[in-house]
Amino acid sequence: MRSRFFRLLFNFSKPTRLRPSTFWATPRPSPHNPPLKSMVIPFFSALFGSSTSANAKNNMTSYPDERTPEEWRAVLSPEQFRILREKGTEAPTTGAYDKHYPSAGTYACAGCGTPLYTAQQKFSSGCGWPAYFDSIPGAVVRHEDRTLGMLRTEIVCANCGGHLGHVFKGEGFPTPTNERHCVNSVSLTFKEGQKEGEDGKGVADKPDDAGKA
Ligand SMILES: [Zn+2]
Repeated sequence: MRSRFFRLLFNFSKPTRLRPSTFWATPRPSPHNPPLKSMVIPFFSALFGSSTSANAKNNMTSYPDERTPEEWRAVLSPEQFRILREKGTEAPTTGAYDKHYPSAGTYACAGCGTPLYTAQQKFSSGCGWPAYFDSIPGAVVRHEDRTLGMLRTEIVCANCGGHLGHVFKGEGFPTPTNERHCVNSVSLTFKEGQKEGEDGKGVADKPDDAGKA
């Protein structure tokens, strides 16, 4: 059993296949098998080691827009600063875009203006915050968030790192992704506009009365 397991490991960890019967016929240390230990250990650490590199990637903290807190304070309202730059949360059902369902347009980062979500990606979740089943590709970055004694996935603007909210999976909403991007309205600015790939046809249902909650 054990040798079968190791043979499996060996075959996976070695690009060119040796004849296992020849190799495993000499179980005692010999000039043929010293490399075994050095091959298996890195393989095990790849399997069971810490995910340091993945975490480093996910917890990226530098972004193309590198404004300082002072620079952000100068352009954001105190509430925008609290939520975008200090990872705050707006009270549920109070946000300008909670019940905002235009037929076209985009929701951009309220900090740097990068388009993050389309009107078509928004859905009604009943959770009290704007909900999107997906983002514009590459616009949003995910981080592990262990605050408040739970493990959640924070989402931030990929351009400025501004805090948007959290993403939740597997809740069973009838959307293409089974994910819910739960976003603070304060982190967003709605821009009327055409649907992606169309010309000037789309008009928001209620021009301008969002944003004044
Ligand atoms: Zn941004």
